[in-house]
Amino acid sequence: MARIAVLKKSSCKSRDCGKPCMTFCPGVRMGEETVKFEEGSKYPIISEELCSGCGICVKKCPFRAIAIVNTPETVEEEASHRYGVNQFTLFRLPIPRPGKVLGIIGRNGAGKSTALRILAGEIKPNLGNVQNPPDWNEIIQFYRGSELQAYFEKLSKGALKISYKPQYITNIPKVYTGIVGDLISKVDERGVAEKLMKELYLESIWGNQLSTLSGGELQRVAIAATIAKEAEVYLFDEPSSYLDIFQRIIAAKIIRSLAEIGKTVICVEHDLAALDFISDYTCVIFGEPGVYGIVSHPYGVKEGINIFLDGYLPDENIRFREESISFSKAPAMPKLDLKTTGSLLEYSGFEIKLDGFKLKASSGGVKKSEIIGILGANGIGKTTFIKVLAGLLKPDTAFTGVGSLKISYKPQYLEGDYTGTVREFLLSAAGASILDSSVKSSIIHPLELEDLMDKSISILSGGELQRVAIAGCLLRDADIYLIDEPSAFLDVEQRFAAAKTIRRIVESKSKAAFIIEHDLIMCDLVSDRLIIFEGEPGRHGLASSPQDMRSGMNSFLKMMNITLRRDVKTGRPRINKLGSKLDSAQKSIGEYYYAPVKK
Ligand code: ADP
Ligand code: ADP
Ligand code: MG
Ligand code: MG
Repeated sequence: MARIAVLKKSSCKSRDCGKPCMTFCPGVRMGEETVKFEEGSKYPIISEELCSGCGICVKKCPFRAIAIVNTPETVEEEASHRYGVNQFTLFRLPIPRPGKVLGIIGRNGAGKSTALRILAGEIKPNLGNVQNPPDWNEIIQFYRGSELQAYFEKLSKGALKISYKPQYITNIPKVYTGIVGDLISKVDERGVAEKLMKELYLESIWGNQLSTLSGGELQRVAIAATIAKEAEVYLFDEPSSYLDIFQRIIAAKIIRSLAEIGKTVICVEHDLAALDFISDYTCVIFGEPGVYGIVSHPYGVKEGINIFLDGYLPDENIRFREESISFSKAPAMPKLDLKTTGSLLEYSGFEIKLDGFKLKASSGGVKKSEIIGILGANGIGKTTFIKVLAGLLKPDTAFTGVGSLKISYKPQYLEGDYTGTVREFLLSAAGASILDSSVKSSIIHPLELEDLMDKSISILSGGELQRVAIAGCLLRDADIYLIDEPSAFLDVEQRFAAAKTIRRIVESKSKAAFIIEHDLIMCDLVSDRLIIFEGEPGRHGLASSPQDMRSGMNSFLKMMNITLRRDVKTGRPRINKLGSKLDSAQKSIGEYYYAPVKK
């Protein structure tokens, strides 16, 4: 077994804590340099050779900054990159193939972006050798016999043209200034600018400054710019972020079309329906987030996603998650017996105008223990609807809303400008009850907040901030939870954990929730009924009354022109191929949500 010690520098308070990692280490007590502080260095160095793996330093560190783990023996010789001493290690690499889309799934911090950056030529892999990094010849030699040998041969000579969409797009306007149309035209080596403008609905922003774009607009521009370049290899890191379901499906189709003309395509994705739809085959990156990641062998896309959900790699005999993630296998089974639960809220219909935008909402109600999912395009008024329910916006028409019921609201856009720590923030939401063991087990633990408690809110990553915000929302005493896009920035595991946590709170306390969600699988999983938004983004929206899953999904999927079937093994929804037998059959009878049961 290879032992890996990782020091999370963002958590380590360097020398100011009294150095318990060093003083309590049995190795150090016996006079060895198992943990040492070098002259001038702020951080301890943990020797992986001398460490016995006792785990005392891990427990003694008050900031949970140390991880010591044993990696599976099978990958010991297969490190592809290590960022530095006591830093994250990636084992193996995904294998690109011409004419195919490889989908990559894995937890946040598992090394997906690292793998893409290596394949993009941004990081030269050091094969785990931080002190004496190998040269290209050694790297090519190391990957001999696999497709990566030829890949790196070409890459190292500068003979492989790669087009790469990074994960973090918010930096783009800092690097490129100017107008959307100019940027895309400038990189348009394939002569597809106009086609992309239409397909990705960029006409209305073609003349806009990059710095003024919303997240979803910027993402579509980034995807268009990546596709417009002429390259052999196209890499997309989380293209679905900020996109609504319509845009996710459109982007997936356009990315797929690259493979159809023989390009090599790799795509990292957390939206399982989109990943399933986009990929020909898939790799799981598993391990311990922030510590090490291992790239699995490639699987067919259906098998790969099922293996991921199951948490077990049969060919390597490795269980990487204790629990499997499961779906209800009985289609359209109500999660809740709506006849037996009482009404919690009845609200009237309303209309509201905001500058050039108009929202018209039908009346509705929510029952105790019920979760209402909200589906619709970006810019169609979902957030506006929630804000009206929350009492933050006043409709133009008479409105009967929540009255004296208490509301807890998680906004879509989270601001990290709170000056305190996570602990202080949660204490302000719920008081000392965050110390209760039931709160720990029902909220703090599933949302993996333990390690974040002493961190300042202002330094959290998007996914960390999202989990803290969800926890804060659920911890507040309320009758109705209004949760705007909880999946954003979360990985698949965290999305499921959040969905489960929300369900548990709502059900156990007989509360209710409205959840805006763009991840189709999550929405299907979490909702009892649906509100569907129709209209024209940016101009007008029409919110339906809450409807049962089947009619809600049918009308929504019909708008998107896609049909779903259920994976036989896991029960998860899968998008049918457009024009396939099942797709046509379902459309002909109007059952977009479920395939007809075979007689
Ligand atoms: P993912 O894309 O799967 O979320 P990443 O590849 O971005 O994961 O990161 C994997 C791990 O590597 C994370 O723990 C991250 O903090 C660490 N990491 C990323 N970049 C660097 C770097 N330049 N130096 C040190 N550690 C890094
Ligand atoms: P969604 O959440 O469905 O993406 P929103 O409810 O955020 O949509 O926005 C719907 C439309 O209303 C958008 O065109 C947006 O620009 C506009 N809008 C939202 N809030 C305001 C506001 N305070 N003033 C003017 N226009 C607004
Ligand atoms: Mg990443
Ligand atoms: Mg919104």
